[in-house]
Amino acid sequence: MSITNRQIFLQHLAQTSDSPLMLEIERAEGLYLLDVSGKRYLDLISGISVSNLGHRHPKVISAIEEQLKKYMHLMVYGEFVETPQTQFAKLLTDNLPPQLNSVYFTNSGTEATEGALKLAKRFSNRSEIVSFRNSYHGSTQGALSVLGDENFRNAFRPLIPGNRLLHFNHEDDLLLITEETAAVIAEPVQAEAGVVIPHHKFLQQLRKRCDDTGALLILDECQTGMGRTGTLWCFDQLEIIPDILLLAKSLGGGMPLGAFIANHEMMNSLSNNPALGHITTFGGHPVSCAAGHAAMKVLLEENLIRDVEEKKNLFIELLHHSAIKSVRAAGLLMAIEFESETINKKTIAECIQRGVITDWFMFAPRCMRIVPPLIISEEEIQNACSIILQSIDSIVS
Ligand code: PMP
Repeated sequence: MSITNRQIFLQHLAQTSDSPLMLEIERAEGLYLLDVSGKRYLDLISGISVSNLGHRHPKVISAIEEQLKKYMHLMVYGEFVETPQTQFAKLLTDNLPPQLNSVYFTNSGTEATEGALKLAKRFSNRSEIVSFRNSYHGSTQGALSVLGDENFRNAFRPLIPGNRLLHFNHEDDLLLITEETAAVIAEPVQAEAGVVIPHHKFLQQLRKRCDDTGALLILDECQTGMGRTGTLWCFDQLEIIPDILLLAKSLGGGMPLGAFIANHEMMNSLSNNPALGHITTFGGHPVSCAAGHAAMKVLLEENLIRDVEEKKNLFIELLHHSAIKSVRAAGLLMAIEFESETINKKTIAECIQRGVITDWFMFAPRCMRIVPPLIISEEEIQNACSIILQSIDSIVS
């Protein structure tokens, strides 16, 4: 008897937990995933904040096809003038404040974090990195060293020394940022903490403390960027500008891509003493950049960001149930909080059973993740919410 894909998955693919979702999807289009049995699922998590335009947007597909006709990998990052990279960097910097004018493309979010931490150390000649409890910036050693959850870090010690964790939204903690601090890394909304929104002025105070001490501010917009929170960048709503911006997830329009973006002069410090001090073979892959460029053009031209707030309000209006403790939302980055992890996980399983894909958060197991593609329609929001409410009913009654 031949071995099934599910058996191969369990036997020959490295596992990340003992409870993978194990949906076997054959095809994805727009908001929907179709599994091998023909069952249709509404994707309410966008592959964890990736598919902002839904799956396989036709303009993204045709940009990929056009690029495939020309070239795939040519040379390691930083040597050749590759049009997909230059055109995407131009579109990004045209839509950023003038000081964020130099883009270093990576393959992923965690590599954007690594690059930014190295850049901060190299440019500032300082070594301490400050980050926040319950923050997530990636899984590699440097990113892990600034990750704000002991449970995830402890098994991998020793970590990179000289890091300091502060409490998010605790003004007094900002005094622990000093002239020794190379950089502070923060998410403008803490996603994996279960959508924790900064208190009024907290991030402005953080910006000021960084200015006062000469520490660089790294904002991680891997989840909040590309329109997710109702503006192109979440920091647009905060009246602050980071020294280094991190992007990934939806940046590549469904292809692997990340970036750290800074001022040209600062970024130049990575090109000397030593030259090639930070390099990557595949960072800014031409096919990923072509896809990301097309996706960002769609995002801007089709006014998808404009409707985010209205769609968020509809979710909030509909998501009322005695078992729901609260709903937190930064645009279409949303968390439904339940009384317990058990209720949450059972409800998630029930939603999936009923054809709606949702999930929990790494540092908030009591919270359900609602992060739909921005193209979700009013009708689909109503449909999704009614399935969520029916699922809760079937669990708590
Ligand atoms: N930063 C944030 C805020 C993230 O949520 C993530 C991934 N969940 C990362 C960085 C790391 O991205 P990647 O998985 O592409 O390395």
